Amino acid sequence: MAASATPDGTEVAVERIVIENAAIATVDADDTEYASGHVVVAGKRIESVGAGRAPEGLENVVRRVDATGHLITPGLINTHHHFYQWITRGLATDHNLFNWLTALYPTWARIDEQMTYAAAQGSLGMLARGGVTTAMDHHYVFPRGSGDISGSIIRAAAEMGVRFTLARGSMDRSEKDGGLPPDFAVESLEGALAATEETVKKHHDASFDAMTQVAVAPCSPFSVSTELMRQGAELGRRLGVRLHTHGSETVEEERFCHELFGMGPTDYFASTGWLGDDVWMAHCVHMNDSDIAAFARTGTGVAHCPSSNARLAAGIARVPDMLRAGVPVGLGVDGTASNESGELHTELRNALLINRLGAHREAALNARQALRLGTYGGAQVLGRAAQIGSLEAGKLADLVLWKIDGIGHASIADPVTAVVFGAAAPVTLSLVNGRPVVEDGRLLHADEDAIARSTRDEAQRLARIAAGS
Ligand SMILES: [Zn+2]
Repeated sequence: MAASATPDGTEVAVERIVIENAAIATVDADDTEYASGHVVVAGKRIESVGAGRAPEGLENVVRRVDATGHLITPGLINTHHHFYQWITRGLATDHNLFNWLTALYPTWARIDEQMTYAAAQGSLGMLARGGVTTAMDHHYVFPRGSGDISGSIIRAAAEMGVRFTLARGSMDRSEKDGGLPPDFAVESLEGALAATEETVKKHHDASFDAMTQVAVAPCSPFSVSTELMRQGAELGRRLGVRLHTHGSETVEEERFCHELFGMGPTDYFASTGWLGDDVWMAHCVHMNDSDIAAFARTGTGVAHCPSSNARLAAGIARVPDMLRAGVPVGLGVDGTASNESGELHTELRNALLINRLGAHREAALNARQALRLGTYGGAQVLGRAAQIGSLEAGKLADLVLWKIDGIGHASIADPVTAVVFGAAAPVTLSLVNGRPVVEDGRLLHADEDAIARSTRDEAQRLARIAAGS
């Protein structure tokens, strides 16, 4: 019998959940799939996954799920987001990146802890309802006197029950230094580094089944000094955590880098210590062959955000070329001020469709590759591929049951095609560390109606404060 030791040394039986009769896409190294199979969860981990019914005689089974009419996949992993933007959605709707940023910075600079908590609940709720089991938030706006913003976001994720990476962001290059954010919206170099180190020490958990991790994440070349990039990379490596930032998002950013640094974004990242297998970068739209080769050589990861790139007219990232070169690529919603839906399961479809508009046309991505981006690829770029991202015995039990026998999907024979090409599939059950987070499309650990009210209230409060400033 599987067992685990309690702190006083006594052995206790591990509770099992048995799920049977589902189609399964494991997203393991061989893309193993079962037309009808089972998953056995023991405690926090997957004990077995395979064809047919679960083994007979399992002890301590606390729940049996007949998953007929479902596809089971690894839980989706979001690799780039800005939760606070949940309360500034639907603004600056017809702008490119730089116009959009300068339109919104003055409002964003007025956020406080109460707002970021509500916005995190909204962002996390929407992600979780759509099958996300690991979320991330790149937060980089810390107005003076705004309270414990990082703590409020981490609390919201813990309450929702999803696995979480907080990328502690920062900005110190304001308008007076040639940057894009207004002067009052940035931190000092020393202040940003000290607060980031404090956040890592307080919240980062390096254990196998960690629910909270922290990354060091200066915002972008056009809002961060070269010194903060350089010292941020050193800090992350000294603390043993991952590094995250935005890169190569638009032609305007490329021009900015050439004018200010005399080189393109990838060379700038290389010169400041920002290429490596402990780094992942959002967007990477404007990459030439040698940029992609540099990412592949160093193991630098990419968070591909197709809807946001379309919304801000940034362009189409060369994902097929990155994958062929061996670059780890995950999917990202990006902040919901540039992707109002805030859903990741629809990004599987958008990634596939948008990449087919690029050079490789219909050969760009297929359904299995899109699913891999949203699962195993995400685990890779977050540095957690040993623990999550595929359904394999010994890995953590983060998984989703997609209902595919309803009106939206029943007439599509192939389950993976149904979920990727079809409408957003309803989530019947999702587990994180073996613990249910969503059942029958509803959040189990949060009140959706209360979140709808609080996010509306906080959006209105922020708009009033910003209008008065
Ligand atoms: Zn972003």
